Amino acid sequence: MDGDRFGLWRARLLVVGVLVALLLSTSPALGQETGEAEPIPTNPTPGAIALTFDDGPFEEWTSVILEILARYDVKATFFISAYRLAIRAEIFEIVEEIVAAGHSVQSHGYGHIWLPARARDKIREELQMSIDLIVAAGAPRPTCFRPPYGGTNDVVVSVAEELGLEVVLWTVDSADTVLQQSTGVIRWLLAHAGAGDIVLMHDQWAPVHRTALPVVIESLLEQGVEFESICAPALEKVTFAPSGFPRLLPL
Ligand SMILES: [Zn+2]
Repeated sequence: MDGDRFGLWRARLLVVGVLVALLLSTSPALGQETGEAEPIPTNPTPGAIALTFDDGPFEEWTSVILEILARYDVKATFFISAYRLAIRAEIFEIVEEIVAAGHSVQSHGYGHIWLPARARDKIREELQMSIDLIVAAGAPRPTCFRPPYGGTNDVVVSVAEELGLEVVLWTVDSADTVLQQSTGVIRWLLAHAGAGDIVLMHDQWAPVHRTALPVVIESLLEQGVEFESICAPALEKVTFAPSGFPRLLPL
């Protein structure tokens, strides 16, 4: 009788142990992803600037940005609006191109909505969906989240943390969405962007960046400023892996 009871308790303990192990292995809030991960570089190192592109990918525009970045061997960061990945499977391929080129792919949420007005559950759903789609598209799990419109509060930061994401905004807005023409963007960025900055740009304004971006990059390179991606410490290693990627070969 006592032996049976002991066996039953041992079995119960085993079940509880397995459940706890499963929880630890699947929960990003409790597992090693946040607890033991190396610090994420959310700022460029001294002497460097981080170019960031929001709202994409767009089949017609993201490739324009990628071509310019490849021309100067500049690594950047793309904050993906994940609803775009749900439109057509072909858009997954653009994410693969961004990753293969050595850029950082991060989250800009799912539906591009103003999150501070939403309930905690909705915010969590938005972020989780963006993570799932970005990973499904072949990118590493994002480590940073840029809220749409820069809209953040304590709840947004807290939910992001639970999901292993750090909220990253910007220090210089390229004003591409406001100026909508290259001369103004060039003038604005040459006056305001430099080492230490995180620059906000948008994929869909590639017609502006087609002209503006090379001028800005060349000017900063002449000043000795380096270009870095943020939020993805492993990407540089991937970029220069011996196996390499076809995208790294001269185009
Ligand atoms: Zn946006």
